[in-house]
Amino acid sequence: MTPVFVVLNAGSSSLKFQVFEARDEGQPCMVFKGLFEGLGGPAHFVVKGTDGAILDEMTWSAGDKLGHEEALMHLVTWLRQHQEDRKLVAIGHRVVHGGEAFSRPVLVDEAVLQSLETLVPLAPLHQPHNLEPIRIVRRRIPGMPQVACFDTAFHQGQSDIATMFALPREMRERGVRRYGFHGLSYDYIASVLKDYDPKLAKGRVVVAHLGNGASLCALKDGASVATTMGFSALDGLPMGTRCGALDAAVVFYMLREMKLSPEQAERMLYTKSGLLGVSGLSNDMRTLRSKAATDSDAKSAIDLFVYRIVREIGSLMAALGGIDGLVFTAGIGENDVATRAEVIAGLNWAGFALDEAANQAGGRQISSGAGPTAWIIPTNEELVIARQTQGVLGAASARIAS
Ligand code: ADP
Repeated sequence: MTPVFVVLNAGSSSLKFQVFEARDEGQPCMVFKGLFEGLGGPAHFVVKGTDGAILDEMTWSAGDKLGHEEALMHLVTWLRQHQEDRKLVAIGHRVVHGGEAFSRPVLVDEAVLQSLETLVPLAPLHQPHNLEPIRIVRRRIPGMPQVACFDTAFHQGQSDIATMFALPREMRERGVRRYGFHGLSYDYIASVLKDYDPKLAKGRVVVAHLGNGASLCALKDGASVATTMGFSALDGLPMGTRCGALDAAVVFYMLREMKLSPEQAERMLYTKSGLLGVSGLSNDMRTLRSKAATDSDAKSAIDLFVYRIVREIGSLMAALGGIDGLVFTAGIGENDVATRAEVIAGLNWAGFALDEAANQAGGRQISSGAGPTAWIIPTNEELVIARQTQGVLGAASARIAS
């Protein structure tokens, strides 16, 4: 039987999965993927092959109240019934926060899980959902190896100065510092950049991960030296529904003058702000682009998004001491022709020049001229989790054998 890993990315009402065949040599190979949506309500399950063709799907009624546990066990049973020649040997999890303790992926045991649970206050909207499936698997499939892969880990090599806030020292000792996120995506881009341009892979690069969550990362020789997200995934660029960098005094104003509770303020900053908040219309770039010609608020939301990206790239260029290349990735970065064109237009002063035809075509290199280069590189966070899972298990079985 062929050993397979499941890679899980759990959200509040969704569970995304990809199944990878393990390889003795080389990287794991994705064989199918899918997701559960609407968990807790009318849930839907779909599995697709590598060509995107639907292999199976199922819908539950709201009354079924399918939760994460039932979804996970449905997936395990589905694998057993439909993939008889494949054996599930491990599960790799996306975990948003690894704190200071975890600078690389780790095989999860009870002590690790407890340590990860102490980080819930640092990422209250993501960490609990990421940890829940780990607990479920420990209870329902005891002995199944599980590997936690962190969004923060890629940034752990940054200098002390790059990760500091100018707060009293005791705050740092409490773990209040910049961590940075989207590390699995940046890890992937750093790992494939040499296939696009070997010289650039060793140079000064800004990667723009522009999805519903959005951040930028400055890479020097493939390592993260600075990033726009900080203590939480709220910092930096405006996002689909998150505000991005904000004067902290706005929060005091919300609490003191507007009498919002901390939970109400948090909800506004995480779920009602960003593209959605400014446009009053949608967090979806496609919708905003389709309305921008006639709706000035939709246009402002896009203009602010692009303006902040350009300003933050300027800041990361300062951290890098210049720039050799810019990479666009994730939903907006990979697909939105206009956002890429507008960002590059905002960077003409830095020597960037757009190759309009390549940008329209979504081609690999979208810059022209002798200045710094610009690229579109589709990200693949799940592959990084699969690679890390295979790497940790390889190391763990070598330890057991020795
Ligand atoms: P997540 O952070 O949830 O993984 P994605 O990386 O899927 O998000 O990005 C979602 C964003 O990408 C949305 O704003 C969506 O409108 C945008 N997007 C996806 N496809 C396109 C497209 N063809 N043109 C413009 N924007 C797109």
